[in-house]
Formats: sequence, C-alpha cells, structure tokens
Amino acid sequence: MTLLLAAAEVERAAALLRAGELVAFPTETVYGLGADARNGRAVAAVFEAKGRPHFNPLICHFAEAEAAFAEALPDDRARALAERFWPGPLTLVLPRRPACRVDLLAGAGLDTLAVRVPAHPLALALLRAADVPVAGPSANRSGQVSPTTAQHVLDGLSGRIAAVLDGGPCTVGVESTVLDLAAGGAALLRPGGVPVEAIEAVIGPVARPIPVSAAAATRTLRSPGMMLSHYAPVLPVRLEATEVAAEEALLAFGEPLPGAGAIWQLSAARDLREAAARLFAGLRWLDAEGARLGLARIAVMPVPQAGLGAAINDRLERAAAPRE
Ligand code: AMP
Ligand code: MG
Repeated sequence: MTLLLAAAEVERAAALLRAGELVAFPTETVYGLGADARNGRAVAAVFEAKGRPHFNPLICHFAEAEAAFAEALPDDRARALAERFWPGPLTLVLPRRPACRVDLLAGAGLDTLAVRVPAHPLALALLRAADVPVAGPSANRSGQVSPTTAQHVLDGLSGRIAAVLDGGPCTVGVESTVLDLAAGGAALLRPGGVPVEAIEAVIGPVARPIPVSAAAATRTLRSPGMMLSHYAPVLPVRLEATEVAAEEALLAFGEPLPGAGAIWQLSAARDLREAAARLFAGLRWLDAEGARLGLARIAVMPVPQAGLGAAINDRLERAAAPRE
C-alpha cells in the first residue's frame, strides 16, 4: 500500500525517509523518488522500485547549498552557480569529499556526486525535516515518462513505495539541467530547467553534448544515465510534424495542425515555460487517449531550440528514439 500524504503531513514523510522507506516528493521539475542517501538498503530499494540499471547514478537533494557542499567539493564556479540558481533546477556534478556520507551505490561507484537544492516549498520542508541527504531520481519506472503529479507517481509506482507527498502539479515540468564540473572543464550532461545560456552568463563557455539524433546514429552515450530511448510513451513518436493524419494523436505547439485524432496543446501562445510544464502530462494523456481510440502514433509539432526549448526537444528526441 502506498500512502498519499497531504502537504500537512511532511513530518510523517520525513520520519518514513529516516526509517529507510521510499517517499516520492514534489519538486519544481518533476516528482522525485526520495530515499535516505546514506542508507545503502534504501538506495538499493530505489533502483529496485524503478527497475533502474545500477550504473545510472542518483542526484542527491539538500535543503541548502552548505549541506550539499559538505558532501561534494565545490570550486568557485560551483559556488557562483549555487548562489545564482539554487534553490532551482540545476544539478552540479562535483568530486565526492573523502568524508562523503552518501552511499557509494547512490553514485553508482563514481568518485563524483550530483547535488541539487530544489525550489519547491514542500521539498525544502521535507529535506529540512529529514535532515539527511536525499537521493531523488524521477519517481517513475525506468525509461518511462517522468511524473509531474502525485497521480502520475501512483500510476507507475503504487505498491512499490511507502508514500507520495502531494504538492500538486510541478511548475517547471522538465528535469534539472545536469552540469559536470568535476573534470576541470564545464560540460552539459543534460539540458533542463536552467537554460545553458544562463549558466554560460555566470561561468563562461560550457561544452555541449552530442545531439540525441547524432548520438542515435553512433549510439554514443555521454553520461551513464543518458540512455537514448527514455521518456518513452507506448505509442511511436514522430517529430517535426508539418501535417497530421486522422490516425495520429497530435502534440501541438501553437495553432494545431488540422485533422488529428486527438490533440494536447503544449502552449497555444507558443510559450516555452508553459510548454515545458505541460510536456510530460501531454505525452501521458496522448498515449492513453491514443490507445483508447486505436491511434497509430503521436505526431509532434516543431518546438524552437532556444532556452527551455533545448530541454523540451531533448526529451522529445528521446521519446522518439529507437527503443532499446
Ligand atoms: P534522474 O535520476 O532521472 O533524476 O536523472 C539523473 C541524471 O543525472 C541521470 O542522467 C544521471 O546519469 C545523472 N547523474 C547523476 N549523478 C551523476 C554523476 N555522478 N555523474 C554524471 N551524471 C550523473
Ligand atoms: Mg528519470
């Protein structure tokens, strides 16, 4: 049985976490699957509940930067970025400190640690109350679309986790930007809620990953977790649609193409923030509606690449990538 906890029950959620149980919690990006990151059994249970490969490390969440930097070693760039973007949708990959309390399995045995301070009042209240580093991958089965509501979490993980703390729909809607500062340079591992241009305004040039389309051709992986097929709906996905058939479900951005069998509007006003916040709910809805109506696939209208568009297009390219 998975408990659905209201915002007022944050202390109960924290007690469950401290007891080694799995508790999903809202963040501004997507719902996280929380576990006490010091507790190897709890961390192992996260991989188990998600069906996630053990070589794919977890992000650790903290209530403030100093707590994160007690486990992972920041340089001046990390401090400047934390100052500017935390709490917020930016994850920093930094060297583990020798005294790091985070279980090695959470970091998949790497000598680096991914850390973040989320910008959600309920997440921060939970992290403060639990007072432990909280491993928090997205609260979905591995390879499936990330959850942006408590109900999405239950759809995938009900019965596999102790509780989900209900904070309503997530406002950013795509996962955090993952930036690797551990190897000397600065490398973008995953585009996300903080546009890379905004990061470059603080620390200068950031190395960009190979686009998913090119990586698909060579099957090159750039980060342990960056599987090509990810965020996958059940129906096949067709990108850059400029016309649509009656047998297709349409993910629209702006004025919808005429003739689709079902439509989910990302943003009528072509606003990238609104589109990001509605992306995963839209993929889930089109998948369910498409199956109900017997549609053949999901067609996706083009989304511009600037700012949050990079994160949106990255997720869409993964949703469309050949299944592994
Ligand atoms: P999720 O678990 O869905 O929040 O995704 C976490 C992402 O961060 C995955 O792509 C991981 O591979 C990546 N990640 C976490 N820790 C590290 C690390 N130490 N080095 C590189 N990538 C990491
Ligand atoms: Mg995920």
